[in-house]
Parts: sequence; C-alpha cells; structure tokens
Amino acid sequence: MTPQANSTASRDIASHLHPYTNLEALAQNGPLVIERGEGIRVFDDEGNPYIEAMSGLWCTSLGWGEERLVEAAARQMRRLGFYHCFTAKVPDVTVDLAERLLALAPVPMSKVFFANSGSEAIDTALKLVWYLNNKRARPEKKKVIARHKAYHGVTIGSASLTGLPLNHRDFDLPIKGVLHTDCPHYYRFAEADESEEDFATRLARNLEKLILDEGPETVAAFFAEPVMGAGGVIVPPATYFQKIQAILKKYDVLLIADEVICGFGRTANMWGSETFSLKPDMMTMAKALSSGYLPISALMVSEEIYTDVREHSATLGTFAHGFTYSGHPVSCAVALETLKIYEERNILGHVRRVSPAFQDMLRRYRDHPLVGEARGVGLVGALELVRDKSTRESFAPADGVGARLVTQAQKNGLIVRALGDSIALSPPLIITEDEISDIARRLGAALDATARWADETGIR
Ligand code: PMP
Repeated sequence: MTPQANSTASRDIASHLHPYTNLEALAQNGPLVIERGEGIRVFDDEGNPYIEAMSGLWCTSLGWGEERLVEAAARQMRRLGFYHCFTAKVPDVTVDLAERLLALAPVPMSKVFFANSGSEAIDTALKLVWYLNNKRARPEKKKVIARHKAYHGVTIGSASLTGLPLNHRDFDLPIKGVLHTDCPHYYRFAEADESEEDFATRLARNLEKLILDEGPETVAAFFAEPVMGAGGVIVPPATYFQKIQAILKKYDVLLIADEVICGFGRTANMWGSETFSLKPDMMTMAKALSSGYLPISALMVSEEIYTDVREHSATLGTFAHGFTYSGHPVSCAVALETLKIYEERNILGHVRRVSPAFQDMLRRYRDHPLVGEARGVGLVGALELVRDKSTRESFAPADGVGARLVTQAQKNGLIVRALGDSIALSPPLIITEDEISDIARRLGAALDATARWADETGIR
C-alpha cells in the first residue's frame, strides 16, 4: 500500500536511509510507524497495538513505559548530562556500573570497558586481541575465528566476524585475518545418522584442523555467541562448547563470548556463558544492559588481559582507544537502574518460571505443516519454515516465505522477525504465561495463513 502524501510514512521514504531494510520494498510500501509502547505492546500511528515478541531488537527486556528508567535518566541528566572517561576522568555513576557488572560476571573479570553498541564492543575486543599479541611479542598471532551464521555487528571489524554473506557482499568484507568455521546447527548441518554428540565432536575437529592449517602461532581468538541470534536462533548441542574450549586451550586461543543477546537473563541464566559453560577471557554485552532505553555496551576483560593492556599502554604512552560516549553517565544511570530492577523483581526467577511455557508453545508448532524445526532456550526461540518437512528442504529465498509470515503476524497484531525463513521470537522478559498464550494464537493464525498462501501460489 502506498503511503498517503505528507504522512509520516511518506516523509520517511523521502528522507531516511533505513538500517537493515529491504530499501526497494520500503520505497514502495513505507515503514510501520511506531508511536508509543506500554508493557509488551507497541502502538502504530493509527493506534493499532502489537505484541512486540522481539523486544524490538532483542533488547527491551523490561518492556515499554518503565517509569523508573525514565526517572533514572531524568535525574542523571539534571545532575550531570554528559561527562567522559578520557584522560583519567570519570562520572561517579560509571564507576558504580562497572562495579556492578564485575559482580555479575560468570567468571572472574578484572575491568569493564564501555561503548555504545554491540559492534563497538566487539571491535574493541578485536583491537585488544591484536594489541595484546603485539605486547606479548608474537605479532604473527593475530587471526581470529568466528562461525558461519554468527552475528557480531556491522562495523568493519565486527561485520568481518559476522558470518552472514549479505553483511560481507559488496562491502568488501571480511578484512584479512578473519576466518569462519562451522555453524553448530544440528538440524541443518548434521550428517545422516550423526548424533548431536558426534556432530559436536566433528565441529571441534574441524576447528582444530582450521587452526593447524593456518598455524596455531597465527591464531589469536575465537568469537562466539552462546546462542547464535541473528543467524537464526541456533542453540548448540550440549557438549559443543566443552569440546570447542578444549581445542582453544590447546592452541592458546582466547575465547570472546558475545553476550549481546544472551546476557541478562535471556537464556534463563544471567549469562549464556552459564547456560553453556563458557569460560571466556573477554565478554561483550549491550541491549538488555539498559533494556534498550539508551545505547550502551560493555566489554569485560580478565585480569591477565588487563595487566598486559596496562603495561603495554604504559610503554606506548597512553591507551589510545575509546569513544566520546564511553561510559556516558545517563546511559550508565539507566543501565544501573535496569540491573536494580532485574534484581528487585527477580526477573531471572520470572524467566525460569515462564520460559517452559514459551518453549512448549514453540514446540507445539512442530506439527504444523510449514514448521521444520522449533528451537530455543529460555525466552528466545525460532520456528524454521520448510518446504518439505521430511527432507528438510528449504523454500527458495525468492519465495519470501519468512517475510510473508511476518506480514501475516503483523496483521494479527504480533511483531516477530524473519531471519531468512527462521521466525525469531525474543519477547520482553516480563512476559506472562497469558501473554505467551496470546502470542501462540496470533502466531498460529499467521502460520495457517502463510501455509494457505504457499499452497495457493504453488510454492509448496
Ligand atoms: N553481537 C550480537 C550477538 C548481536 O546480536 C548484535 C546486534 N544484534 C551485535 C553484536 C551488534 O550490536 P549493535 O547492533 O548494537 O552494534
């Protein structure tokens, strides 16, 4: 539908280059204009409500309209609306947040570096890997490994680590020295009759082969999301990370856990690293750190890494890395209040209570003719739509089945996200069982409508 002249939608088409959007479809149809939010719902400019089953972009864990976050921001803006952390200065509230995050860390961590986005935190980790190995007098040990289908961001370093073809193609990425290994998606990539355990063993062997082929003296770090998010919500086999970590240890390769989606309760533990027994040397976090209300991200580093960074920067003169808004006091105040709310309302306990209902809801759709796999953990999951359930054959990307389902869901007052033909759900952590049932009804209607359409158009 072409937007009316002078509407917000038509002005958007005329003025705004959208991130991560099919620009051709946007130019034809315009955007969905969202005006306000309340609890787990957002409302468009015609007043229609939608259950936001993606927490926006996996971030609004406390839902919309959380007054305490509004107040925390306003209070801090009045006290100190901006100050920075360069040249040995710091807002007091930034220190409070650093301390609080260290206390929450799943393994002993020494220091917190602040940035504004997941991409910046990941780029910082990558730069530290290089800086460290220069300090350690092994300048050849600089290559880093991520996985196919990983998502680590869109800046030059983080987009290189991302393992999705569209993030590389014609952006002249990845940069050299960034390698990709197997994606631990059992449903898609296991061989016939291979058990999950054998699949995990094979992937660990392949990682070892990659490291040996490149030369262990050239491989510095491995980046991994505990659950891969934007690649399709891919939950690894139970023993995968144990086997991977044994290989990393053997060849002195650092582990960087990207907790940007998993952090702060998403997988029913505070960290995805706890759910999957990761012992990272560094970890990144963002999104739910401030419930998405203000941009903020963080990178935690181990004592060993910090010591070397400190010594090396002393030799060079200064640690010459940082963003104007690293440790922004208003973002830090909102993040601190977010963490306080998580604790006071026992959000983790709540996630543990309601997530079985959420996972059951997704798994009930396994019997639906379009659904090949239902997967997830905690309050994150996906349904993978397939053309043929028995052979697991996918639809052609050009059929746009995932996008079709998203449109149908939207018509039913539900916002979900299509990652190819995997339909992701990552609702606010405050969701109730009744609201999960409400999602189920709307999702079911959207699935049925999409199946009818697929049959009518003959793509299935
Ligand atoms: N890492 C992960 C795991 C992510 O999901 C994302 C964003 N979806 C990023 C990094 C990048 O974060 P940002 O978009 O804030 O740069």
